[in-house]
Amino acid sequence: MTENLNLFTSTQVVIKDALEKLGYDEGMYELLKEPLLMVEVRIPIRMDDGKVKVFTGYRGQHNDAVGPTKGGIRFHPNVSADEVKALSMWMTLKAGIVDLPYGGAKGGILCDPREMSMGELERLSRGYVRALSQVMGPAKDIPAPDVFTNSQIMAWMMDEYSKIDEFNSPGFITGKPVVLGGSHGRERATAEGVTIIINEAAKRRNIDMKGARVIIQGFGNAGSFLSKFLHDSGAKVIGISDAYGALYDPDGLDIDYLLDRRDSFGTVTTLFDNTLTNAELLEMECDILVPAAIENQITEKNAHNIKADIVVEAANGPTTSEATKILTDRGILLVPDVLASAGGVTVSYFEWVQNNMGYYWSEDEVREKMTAKMVQAFENVYNIATTRNIDMRLAAYMIGVRKTAEASRFRGWV
Ligand code: GLU
Repeated sequence: MTENLNLFTSTQVVIKDALEKLGYDEGMYELLKEPLLMVEVRIPIRMDDGKVKVFTGYRGQHNDAVGPTKGGIRFHPNVSADEVKALSMWMTLKAGIVDLPYGGAKGGILCDPREMSMGELERLSRGYVRALSQVMGPAKDIPAPDVFTNSQIMAWMMDEYSKIDEFNSPGFITGKPVVLGGSHGRERATAEGVTIIINEAAKRRNIDMKGARVIIQGFGNAGSFLSKFLHDSGAKVIGISDAYGALYDPDGLDIDYLLDRRDSFGTVTTLFDNTLTNAELLEMECDILVPAAIENQITEKNAHNIKADIVVEAANGPTTSEATKILTDRGILLVPDVLASAGGVTVSYFEWVQNNMGYYWSEDEVREKMTAKMVQAFENVYNIATTRNIDMRLAAYMIGVRKTAEASRFRGWV
C-alpha cells in the first residue's frame, strides 16, 4: 500500500481516531470531518502592466461552536481547497491544545508574491477582504499571517475592513504592525513557542539544552528565528537547510553569519560548495531534529534512518502517519505540529484581546503568558500520551478536538 500524502484525508483519519478514543460516535465525526463553511472567491486585480488578472481565493471556517474562528491567510501558488480545509481543521486543534476561545479557520490565495510588486500585493490583499468581508469580522472570523504574508499585508487588510465596516477595527485581524495595534512578540511567537516546546521535550528526555545537538530543516521564518533562539541559548545547531541544500558541521554552524547572509526567502546554502541534500541532512545523528520546512519529509522510507532522540515538527505536516508510528515505536519522542507551532495563534489571541480592551501589554507580559500556555499544553499532551500509551499526535488531537466537540454537543448541533 502506498502512503497517504494528502494532508486533508490524513488529518481526517486522526480526528476520527481521536473522537473514538474520546467516546464520540460517528455523528460527531460527520460534523467535524470538514469545515462548516468553505468559500471560494475570484478576485479581479489590475496588474502593473494595465491588464486585469483574476485570482482565486479561499476561506474555510472549520467550526465556530467554541467562539469566532481564527487562522492565517497564505499567498502561495500551490494553495488548494483541500489544503485550506486541512489547515482550518489544524487551527481548531491548535486553539483547543492551547485552550483559546476560538474555532479554526484558514484562507489562501493562489498567487506567487515573489513575482508581484508591492502595488499588486496591496490591491490583491484589499480585494480578498472586499470579497470575503461578509463572512469575516472581529467576532466572526479573525485572519492572521501565514506562508508569504506579513504585517504589511495585515495592515492593508485591516484598513480595507475598517473602511467597509466604517469603524476602526483593529480586532479584525492579527499579526499587524505594533503601531496599528499589533502585539509585541507576535512576529517571533511561532519560533519562540517551538523553542519552549523543545525545552520541555528535552527535559522529559534528560537532554541538557546547553550543548544539545540540533538539526533544523528549513531556514524560512520559523527555521531562522528558531536557529537563532537555540544558538543563543547555548544549543549547538549542527545542521540547517533551505530549498536548495543543507549545511552541516558537527562542531556547530556559525548561525549569526548564516542569518546575515540569508536572503528574504531564506536561501543561504547556494553560497557554499560542500552542501548535503535535504534528505541526507534528516538522517544525520543529532539530539533534536526540527523539520521546519514543508510537508511529508519524514515518511516510511526514511523514518527508520532518523538518528535523533526528539523530533519536533515546526512545519505543517512534515511527518506522515506511517512515519509517526515508526518513530514512536523506535522510542523517539515526536512532538506534533499542532502542538509545537501553536505559539503563533496564542500570541494572535493576546493581540485580539488587547485590541478588544484597548489596553496593551509589554513584551515581557506577552512572553510570560505565552510561555505558561505552551508549557501547560505540552504537559497535557505528554501526560495523555504516556498514560494512554498512544503517540503524541493522537494525544494532541484528542485534546485539540475535545472542546469543539463538547461545545457542538451543548449547542445541540449533533
Ligand atoms: N498562521 C498561523 C498558524 O497557522 C497563525 C494563525 C493565527 O495567528 O491566527 O498557526
